[in-house]
Amino acid sequence: MIPQTAMQVLDQYFPALAPHLQTMNATEAQNSLYGAMDLDHLNWLEKSWANYYIWVGNPIIATGLLSFLIHEVVYFGRCIPWLIIDAIPYFRKWKIQQDKQVSNEQIWACTKDVLLTHFTCEFPLIYLFHPICCYFGMSTFEVPFTPIPIMLAQIAFFFVFEDTFHYWAHRALHWGPLYKHIHKKHHTYSAPIGLAAEYAHPLEVLILAQGTISGPFLYCLFRKDLHILTVYLWVTLRLFQAVDAHSGYDFPWSLRHFLPFWAGADHHDFHHASFLDCYSTSFRWWDHMLGTDQRYKRARARAAAAKGEERARIEKQELEQAEKDGLKAERELLRGQGVKVE
Ligand SMILES: [Zn+2]
Ligand SMILES: [Zn+2]
Repeated sequence: MIPQTAMQVLDQYFPALAPHLQTMNATEAQNSLYGAMDLDHLNWLEKSWANYYIWVGNPIIATGLLSFLIHEVVYFGRCIPWLIIDAIPYFRKWKIQQDKQVSNEQIWACTKDVLLTHFTCEFPLIYLFHPICCYFGMSTFEVPFTPIPIMLAQIAFFFVFEDTFHYWAHRALHWGPLYKHIHKKHHTYSAPIGLAAEYAHPLEVLILAQGTISGPFLYCLFRKDLHILTVYLWVTLRLFQAVDAHSGYDFPWSLRHFLPFWAGADHHDFHHASFLDCYSTSFRWWDHMLGTDQRYKRARARAAAAKGEERARIEKQELEQAEKDGLKAERELLRGQGVKVE
């Protein structure tokens, strides 16, 4: 799997690392990973899964590579439809902050920054991911997979855990010193785009990623029936949620209209505009219980009470007011941290 010359370089410069990255041939890999197991009785996906691990010949590389690729493909794959929607005027009527438009230069700068963070912060973690999964007792190369009803229950738990973690970590990131040094970067866009979901300081990416990945590891401490495929499905849904929440669009068919506790872009867009309200990711309940969505609710209630053309005017007025208050609050916070703001 790893070319001979690359192995020679590893041997010479990283002698401690090299033995862990040696690959087995197909027969050795099959015997070592699956022993006498009859793989022909598995379903297509499980068979392909086993064949992938046999083909790579080293579970550390196989898990690490797959984890990185899934993140990149899902993240950028989900961003592309939003870029297309942004370029089609027909969809503009559903854009939450109608007057804001992101330039091609900003899109390109955002893409480069996100890629740089992924390659510098996340790529090295590939090497550690498989051993950490094994340490916590998560299945990786093993087949068959977990039954679907159990998978769904596990994913539901990860959603609730992440939302709680994110709410509190996000509130902490709005504390003066953490905001000034870490979270400020993510607030560059007061009207975000899908690509900006992970446009953040590397430390913020690492802190908030704990909410996504600690749920599965915590689960493994209590039960030993978690397969990494379930984690990949969970990460995929979480990335969809994060990108969509930053899309800037609220359609009549957006999930929040069917699931009243789902936050969606409507909720998180307001956080970027107002700076002060709506700290959750997936659900609305933490902000509702702790009253950190008062401005948001007031703005939406005023708009909902207005009729026809008046509604659009009130919506705009509320958004402008929220943005003005937010800008003032952000400036005060930064001034308190000794930052010179005009
Ligand atoms: Zn924030
Ligand atoms: Zn955001």
